[in-house]
Order: sequence, then C-alpha cells, then structure tokens
Amino acid sequence: MRITAETRVLTLLGDPVAHSASPEIQNAAFREAGVDGVYVAVRCAADDLSGFMHGLARAGGGGNITLPHKEKAAALVDMPSEAVRRTGACNTFWGVQGKVHGDNTDVDGFRRALRIFLDGSVQGIRALLLGAGGAARAALLGLLDEGAAEVLLFNRTSERARAVARRIGGQRARVVPLVSGLEGERFDLVVNATRLGLDPHDVSPLDFARLGRAGAAMDLVYAREKTPFVRAAERHGVRSTDGMEMLVQQGAVSFERWWERPAPIDAMRAAIQSVAR
Ligand code: NAP
Repeated sequence: MRITAETRVLTLLGDPVAHSASPEIQNAAFREAGVDGVYVAVRCAADDLSGFMHGLARAGGGGNITLPHKEKAAALVDMPSEAVRRTGACNTFWGVQGKVHGDNTDVDGFRRALRIFLDGSVQGIRALLLGAGGAARAALLGLLDEGAAEVLLFNRTSERARAVARRIGGQRARVVPLVSGLEGERFDLVVNATRLGLDPHDVSPLDFARLGRAGAAMDLVYAREKTPFVRAAERHGVRSTDGMEMLVQQGAVSFERWWERPAPIDAMRAAIQSVAR
C-alpha cells in the first residue's frame, strides 16, 4: 500500500493504546478493500482529545476512541448517533463537511455477534447481563433493540446497574441487587460484560450452578486462552462464546462508517487471529 499526500489518516485515541490490536486489524481491512487510508494508535491525554478529534475530522480523517475517553468523546461530537445518545459513549468518529460525526459501534458490533451466536433467534429471549460499565450499556441497548423480552442486570455495585437500567432500560430491564436473587432463575442467555477474565488469574463472574437454566453464555471479554466465564459455562454444559467476534464486528461497523462500504470481515478475522497468536 502506497502512502501519499492523499492518504486518509484514521487514529485510535486513548491512554494506554500500546496493547491495541486495532492498527493490525484495520490496516489489514484497508489493504484488502483497497482503500487509501492508514490507521495508527496515538496515546492521547483527555485535554488533547478535542483538538485531535476536530483537527482530524476537518482534515477528512477520523478514528476510534478507547478508554478512558469514550464518555468525553460523546460530549465532543457535533452529530452523535442514536447509540451515542442512548449509551453516553462514543468509540468511532469521522468528519463530514467540517462536522464531527460519532457512533458507538460496540452496540451494533454486539448485536451482529449476538445474532451470529444465537443464529438469529434473539426475539423474546430472557437474558441475564453481568456488569454495568461501558460494555454493559452497549450490550443492554443491543439486547433490547434486538427484541429481548426481559433483561436482568447484576453488578457488584448495584447502584451502577440501577443507573444503567434507568438510562437505557425502560420496562424490560430489571436490576437484581443481590446474587441470591439469581437462585434458580431461568435464562435463555447470560452475557458477561464485567472485566473479569482480562487477568488470567480472574475467576468466573458467575457460578452457573446458581441458575435454574442458562441456554447460552456470551462473554464480551476476549483472551488468548478460554476465558474463566466460558470455562465455567462449558463445565455446566452451556454453549458459549467469547468476545472475539464482537471485537471483529465493532471494528467492521467502524470501517463501514468511515468508508461507506461493507467491511472485509474475513480479512479482519484473520488479522485478529494472527495478532492473538
Ligand atoms: P468498565 O466500564 O471498567 O466496567 C467494568 C465492569 O466490571 C463493572 O461492571 C465492574 O463492576 C465489573 N468488575 C470489575 N472488577 C470486578 C470484580 N472483581 N468482580 C466483579 N465485577 C467486577 O469496563 P468496560 O469498558 O465495560 O469493559 C468490560 C469488559 O468488556 C472488558 O474486559 C473489555 O475488554 C470488554 N469489551 C469487549 C468488547 C468487544 O468488542 N469484545 C468491547 C467493549 C468491551 P463495578 O461497577 O462494581 O466496579
């Protein structure tokens, strides 16, 4: 790929960013699709975020936003998507006629990964969602928009779960304040949106033996090895998956926002696999 004065610059803005696989994944996608862009990671302080986002967008570029700036970015974009407005977080931005557009592609990335995992049958399901951070907000919005009948939220700090339910939930989201409230409950799907599993010494956020039924288990955490949540699900014979497909899909949605064409998803999957090895 030749980089010229015409090449569009897309950046990952966050702190830290050195661990990110996004440059490999997006540059592989750009090469495969033959688009004239380059993707780089830039460690960025909170005070510099506005300058980077506005400057890059005005220059015809854009990028992704990662921790800890997703909430701040949501407040900075001129044209927030519905997902940004409803979750209060922005992870993708680009410029159109001097205005900064923003989306939270974790929402559509989760929805696409969920549809693939459940083979399309999300309508009417009863789900348990663990966690109350940014990933949980995206997953709750995704579950409700895909037609889940009821979502129970459980988080270590139940006040945070209440805030998420109030912001996004409507009538179909309910907070379970104590883990004992899950005893014997029956779910079609359990989603882990806590960060447990990022550290190899972490334990599963849920003991599946507490539940009356778990039809399937989806972890948003991804790791080289099987995550503790996936291992716990497998021990109870529950079909499970980790967060790798969501990672691919949220990157694909970002690609589509920047380039207004379908993402080369197989090239992105292959790039993730080679980074993960
Ligand atoms: P976050 O905003 O920091 O939220 C962390 C969540 O984990 C909170 O609910 C927190 O509970 C819970 N938690 C932390 N330590 C815990 C512990 N020891 N025991 C029980 N709960 C604990 O993080 P996030 O941005 O939502 O990300 C969560 C995970 O999702 C990360 O692993 C991230 O990599 C993953 N993720 C994956 C994708 C993907 O594409 N696959 C996309 C986004 C995020 P409290 O509220 O009680 O602190």
